[in-house]
Amino acid sequence: MPLFRHTCVRKTVPRDHPLYGKVIYVPAMAEGSVEVFCAVLRWMGIEAFPTPPSDDRTLELGGKFTSGDECYPAKVTLGDFVKIAEKPGFDSARTVFLMATGEGPCRFGQYAPFLKKLLVELGYPLVDVLSPKTEHGYSEIGEFGSAFLRGSWRALVSGDLLRKKLLRTRPYERTPGTTDRAYWDSIDDLCRCIEHSCSDHRCQLAAIVESLERARLRFESVLIDDSIDRPLIGVVGEIFCRLNSFSNRDLVRRLERQGAECWISDIAEWIAYTNDEEARKLRLERRTFSAEMLKCILRSRIQHRDEEALMEVFAEDFQGYDEPPCAHLMELARPYLPNHGVEGEMVMSVGKAVYLARHGADGVIDISPFTCMNGIVSEAIYPRLSRDVGGMPIRNFYFDGTQSDLDRDVGIYLELARSYREKKQHSRPPRRRRKSTEAA
Ligand code: SF4
Repeated sequence: MPLFRHTCVRKTVPRDHPLYGKVIYVPAMAEGSVEVFCAVLRWMGIEAFPTPPSDDRTLELGGKFTSGDECYPAKVTLGDFVKIAEKPGFDSARTVFLMATGEGPCRFGQYAPFLKKLLVELGYPLVDVLSPKTEHGYSEIGEFGSAFLRGSWRALVSGDLLRKKLLRTRPYERTPGTTDRAYWDSIDDLCRCIEHSCSDHRCQLAAIVESLERARLRFESVLIDDSIDRPLIGVVGEIFCRLNSFSNRDLVRRLERQGAECWISDIAEWIAYTNDEEARKLRLERRTFSAEMLKCILRSRIQHRDEEALMEVFAEDFQGYDEPPCAHLMELARPYLPNHGVEGEMVMSVGKAVYLARHGADGVIDISPFTCMNGIVSEAIYPRLSRDVGGMPIRNFYFDGTQSDLDRDVGIYLELARSYREKKQHSRPPRRRRKSTEAA
């Protein structure tokens, strides 16, 4: 049977569409997920690539064109974009930089206008900055808005699932590198599958499910040793810094190298939160019976249905390690940060910390950029939250591109997590035992 049988009709961008003939660069917030996201754009007929890997030059350029007041993710994304613009042969008239935006209470909404202004000052006025708003369902992409929204949601959920499977497997692999290989082969498979999937949404979903099933087999063929009981560390915090391994200096791998297993909050959690917030605000504005509310409800329902179909592939593997619905997290956060008065990632971080404590985590780490408003507020809450859940260690790690002895701090933190494990009230769900075989 051919690998990709759902290739009946491809989407193409019409000649009069503003994105026709353009090349979009997408900030590489989360490795793997960004590749899959770009595949969705290519599926729509738009050339798209992740920004190249961040490095010292990224920080040099980011530092040169920011004043120091900006958040660290702004510095990293800006540095990566300018690095592209500096390349010989850069075609500014064909280039589009994607920089999402939002209407939250913090500086995130300033990133895109700042980038636009800087590009003009640097002599690249023709470069477009595409700033779709999650709140508006990406309608800025025009008639492709709903296909893009649905395709990218499926891509991001699938990327999240593959990352979760990676983190559940890698700490236990017998041969270093085999889980990473399974992961990257699966990302490549998923990208090809999405890029060549057909425009019928049922066909596309079936093709993605098949790709995830192949991924599951790859992971299941990794030879593991799960006789060691590793501390389970939840990872919450600001979405970019949490998921961008360059920004957080690969904190998850450092934790794994020192014996931990990590459970990191995913991208879908944030998108579900923005959907819920949109509905809450419409209700506050007495627009419960409005076209916007209907759109918002339909979007959430469709996304939920797609998510369930994709999660089903890994249902057995993630039993007891399920991602909670966003409303549940808000409920858990309510005693500390009631959502009628506070909004933003701090609500999700606090709610998830409580959830993780009740699901047997041995500790929680909050990764945030230095001076991040969300990180600062959460940090003020954590001592009380920790007391309420029996003393689970919760620690903020802030990042701004400067060096410190991170491995030493991780080691000290894990000692606390190990001693908490001896007295914690909630034990973690048992790992699913499986037959170990060598990696394919
Ligand atoms: S969440 Fe934090 S890092 Fe991100 S824009 Fe807001 S304040 Fe800055």
